[in-house]
Amino acid sequence: MTDKLDLLVIGGGSGGLAHAQRAAEYGASAAVVEHGPLGGTCVNVGCVPKKIMWYSAHHAHQFDHAPDYGFDIEVKGHDWGALKSRRDAYIKRLNGIYGNNLDKHGVAHIQGSARFVDANTIEVAGREYKAGHIVIATGGRPIVPDIAGAELGITSDGFFELEDRPQRVLVAGSGYVSVELAGVLNALGSETHVVVRKEGVLRSFDRMLSAELMEAMRNSGIALDTGVIPKSVQQPGDGIVLHAEDGRSFGPVDVLIWAVGREPNTEMLETANAGVHMDDKGFVPTDEYQQTNVENIFALGDVTGRDALTPVAIAAGRRLADRLYGGMKGRHLEYHLIPTVIFSHPTIGTVGMSEDEARAKFGDDIKVYNCSFIGMYYALGKNKQRSAMKLVTTGPEERVVGCHVFGDGADEMMQGFAVAMRMGATKADFDDTVAIHPTSAEELVTMR
Ligand SMILES: Cc1cc2nc3c(=O)[nH]c(=O)nc-3n(C[C@H](O)[C@H](O)[C@H](O)COP(=O)(O)OP(=O)(O)OC[C@H]3O[C@@H](n4cnc5c(N)ncnc54)[C@H](O)[C@@H]3O)c2cc1C
Repeated sequence: MTDKLDLLVIGGGSGGLAHAQRAAEYGASAAVVEHGPLGGTCVNVGCVPKKIMWYSAHHAHQFDHAPDYGFDIEVKGHDWGALKSRRDAYIKRLNGIYGNNLDKHGVAHIQGSARFVDANTIEVAGREYKAGHIVIATGGRPIVPDIAGAELGITSDGFFELEDRPQRVLVAGSGYVSVELAGVLNALGSETHVVVRKEGVLRSFDRMLSAELMEAMRNSGIALDTGVIPKSVQQPGDGIVLHAEDGRSFGPVDVLIWAVGREPNTEMLETANAGVHMDDKGFVPTDEYQQTNVENIFALGDVTGRDALTPVAIAAGRRLADRLYGGMKGRHLEYHLIPTVIFSHPTIGTVGMSEDEARAKFGDDIKVYNCSFIGMYYALGKNKQRSAMKLVTTGPEERVVGCHVFGDGADEMMQGFAVAMRMGATKADFDDTVAIHPTSAEELVTMR
């Protein structure tokens, strides 16, 4: 490696790897500094192991309905340990693939923790490295609340380390990580209890999605309590007990999972040495070009505090490389109409504004279309799961600004609708599109 590179990326997660590799494709000399396994949160303790667990839970739900379709099956059990071994082996393979990809691109991999020395220099394990551009892509980590006994709980990171399935689980938190982990544990046989601080789960999403999911969670056997502000945690004997500020107690349980948000990995970066500003929570703010307040230093992904999703980090990283090294002046990520899926049971897919957001922005100039139905999959059995959909439109042309789907298949449904909405699709465009039958997705183009 030369003494001075074009690019140093701190963090070998989704965004950092994508940026460094795209930059190298344009001929930049680049290195990635990573102190953990390559791939970051998504590959090691996020999307990938989470989706594997979701698939396992999905099987459990399918087995429940198998008799409706003529199968006489006996499920003898579920081997969590065997699943974890296979999952871990898969992730190890991915770590290797990520390493090979860096090699193929000629991007150097520096193992260790980086800290800034000045705006062009970082230090890793006692050695200094210099570059024209430095990119901060250090992601985040789960928050553990600052209350007595909080260390008795684990986080999503700890969930992926569990060697056995806990029988009694309490999940504290209302975001997507909470509902996803609770859904997996419940489907695989744990007695699962979720507690949330305010009135419901997924509060940043459309109200319909939150209400439908809460009902589905309760129907599937998950205990769900609202208005729970954790005060302390104890382990008096037979398990862990969470005490709330209002005097309620929850437990005893075998495992308490904190899913109460994430904080940025910035404190060990010593950003002040480079003059990089952070906000009061430690996130690194950037402009729309991912530029920090320092001209040659950029930040992307979860560490910026915006839309913490893998494809967002990747897209921001690639576009930044296109602009800095690929001659694509002005290229940057547009942070709107970002589709999102929640891997609950059933799944949720959503893109654009919630009804409340649209009303706040457009006032009465919105029209909302709703539908709910039981998908054909449930026609033959007794256990029926409702699906629900909502389109939010604005203006006389009824441009679709929000599309929200709760129900089986929502995860695979949303990508195409997001394309249509980016292209400015109106309700009439949806209506003029011939339905695909028999599917759930067809309801989105037949709503009245
Ligand atoms: C349980 C869970 C489930 C998720 N599911 C999904 C999903 O289904 N879909 C989705 O899109 N997103 C999902 N996410 C979010 C997704 O994982 C993140 O948005 C994504 O990984 C962010 O990428 P990043 O590059 O910003 O950071 P990261 O992937 O977190 O990478 C940052 C890297 O920087 C390294 N690092 C930090 N500090 C230093 C330092 N000083 N020196 C060297 N290295 C350092 C870290 O070790 C890490 O590897 C999930 C997250 C969690 C926790």
